[in-house]
Amino acid sequence: MATGKERAYYKSVRRAAAALNSDMTLKEALDTIVRCTARAMKAGVSLVLLDSTRKKLIHSSSWGLSQTYLRKGVLDTDKSLAEVLTGQPVAIADVSQDSRIQYPELAAKAGISSILGIPVMVSGTAVGSIRVYSKEPAEFTNQDTNLVTTMANLATAALHSRTPYHETEETQQGESQAQTEAAALRQVRTVTYAHPSEEEFAHILDFYHIEWVYEPRSFPLNWDGDRVTEMFTPDFYLAGLDLYVELTTLKQRLVTEKNRKLRRLRELYPEIKITLLYKKDFDRLLAKYGCGPLAQARGHGISQVLYSSAEIQHRVGALAEQISRDYTGRHPIMVGVLRGVFCFMADLVRQMTTPLDVDFMAISYYSEDSSAVKITKDMNLNVDGRHVLMVEDIVDTGMTLNYVLNYLKARNPASLAVCTLLDKRARRLIDVPLDYTGFEVPDEFVVGYGLDYEEEYRNLPFIGILGPEKRPAKERGHSKTSVAERNASQKRPK
Ligand code: 5GP
Repeated sequence: MATGKERAYYKSVRRAAAALNSDMTLKEALDTIVRCTARAMKAGVSLVLLDSTRKKLIHSSSWGLSQTYLRKGVLDTDKSLAEVLTGQPVAIADVSQDSRIQYPELAAKAGISSILGIPVMVSGTAVGSIRVYSKEPAEFTNQDTNLVTTMANLATAALHSRTPYHETEETQQGESQAQTEAAALRQVRTVTYAHPSEEEFAHILDFYHIEWVYEPRSFPLNWDGDRVTEMFTPDFYLAGLDLYVELTTLKQRLVTEKNRKLRRLRELYPEIKITLLYKKDFDRLLAKYGCGPLAQARGHGISQVLYSSAEIQHRVGALAEQISRDYTGRHPIMVGVLRGVFCFMADLVRQMTTPLDVDFMAISYYSEDSSAVKITKDMNLNVDGRHVLMVEDIVDTGMTLNYVLNYLKARNPASLAVCTLLDKRARRLIDVPLDYTGFEVPDEFVVGYGLDYEEEYRNLPFIGILGPEKRPAKERGHSKTSVAERNASQKRPK
């Protein structure tokens, strides 16, 4: 005979599973799973998800927890139940005695005694966890762990069944299903904006791939004894910039009041970075916090940001790690083809951990006054018997790279491999072998991070698609143009 507790567990699993077989959105299905878990466990429950840097955890769907507790701030993955993200369940019987809790005083204030954390896995990688917060001191049993693990699996199943995924997109964008799903999960956030300008600001942040959380933390400003009498909840937290943003488009009287609160917050929490922002200051903010030319670019013909500065850095770091591993003990020469490669090359070699040499080449491109491609700047180092890794900004038709590889092969390197930041595979004419690829890009004209259009845009920290009004004329309808015309439209002296 099943006990009362077992019956409650069956019922909640049945209800949560039924949500998957309904027409609920991903957000609604996850909310249902969280609510059913909370009812079964008779405790507060939250689904916390990793941001794209995998350094922060964000409460994304909760039940039975106070706003004050939820708004205690974004959690750091290394300070808050860190082992859960290695795929292990974590049960903490007494939160006041455990160093794995990031905000023990706030947990105590909220009356939380015990916490159970179970990973939510997508294709073998943790993307977050379901956390159970019990007010009663609890020694979580195997049965409890099994229930929450089942709920975490249902959350993954909700995700699989509700994330549109097409193979063609995979080929074009170079995204794996796991990446697509993790991104879909991150977008599950309950946001009811207090003001339309906040929604607009969120769109601007999304446009630039800047990750944000809406109102994640309330800062107590004044107390009457133990009781908090005044709080301040900034509108946004930009995790990648570790910056809070408070928007204001309101009347001067309210601005004065907000300024007073901000002064108080800065006095009490000097380590917190916060900016008060007028709508007209959006662009200035982006410029100030490392996304300088972004705002400028938006007005100058970029139709879409493909990869933000943070995404590029993350990918370049992964490439550097892989290349360092593969070239251990081989002391390669890394050869960049100038000039579009300069940003990528500089970032790549600085993250490599194996000894290496650096050299550059430059070659002429197709133009009316040159009949054949030629080397305009040769390498300084001798490649005979050395391991050579060619580094390219973008491989498009493959003709440039094919020429350079043939030229180098004739000089007897011990090995010859290719690393390109971008692969525009859709336009390939010559099947050149690529050993390391940063991103596969769609058949569009891209600029930024070293890549130019008529010498402009090289200094953008991100990679974007040039809008149709600026695009090289032949690019707009290149299905009708000859190969030579297409190349002429894209090739400029680098
Ligand atoms: P391929 O010989 O592979 O057709 O051309 C490679 C060169 O063409 C690159 O090194 C780059 O200079 C230029 N190129 C090709 N596609 C693009 C693009 O989308 N944007 C920019 N800025 N240059 C491109």
